[in-house]
Amino acid sequence: MNSCLFCKIASKEIPSSQVYEDDEVFAFNDINPQAPVHILIIPKQHISTTEDLDENNSALIGKLALTASKIAKDLKLEGYRLVINCNEIAGQSVFHIHCHLLGGRPMAWPPG
Ligand code: AMP
Ligand code: ZN
Repeated sequence: MNSCLFCKIASKEIPSSQVYEDDEVFAFNDINPQAPVHILIIPKQHISTTEDLDENNSALIGKLALTASKIAKDLKLEGYRLVINCNEIAGQSVFHIHCHLLGGRPMAWPPG
């Protein structure tokens, strides 16, 4: 049985604040937002980390970025940040690839 939280969110077994969905990706509001806009975009296919990408599924990352771009345009964001954390040391806490779309406030660089 698949116990992955984000697989369950993508299949709607666990409810979320859905923003977008198509055959390949699902987007929803982060439960603990770090900016006025904080949306997670995930592939419906379970892939744990960017380290697990291969030639057969690497196009999905482009799809996550394209989806983020479309959502940001819909929300008329002036600018935004896309983040994909890989492994615990980089801040990954859910091991199903997800792209954070953050916007709606100025952001500093470099991040902490
Ligand atoms: P990361 O730390 O990069 O793995 O990001 C995981 C994100 O998932 C965090 O920003 C959490 O706030 C978010 N999160 C965890 N559980 C849920 C949930 N049930 N619904 C929405 N977002 C969640
Ligand atoms: Zn999963």
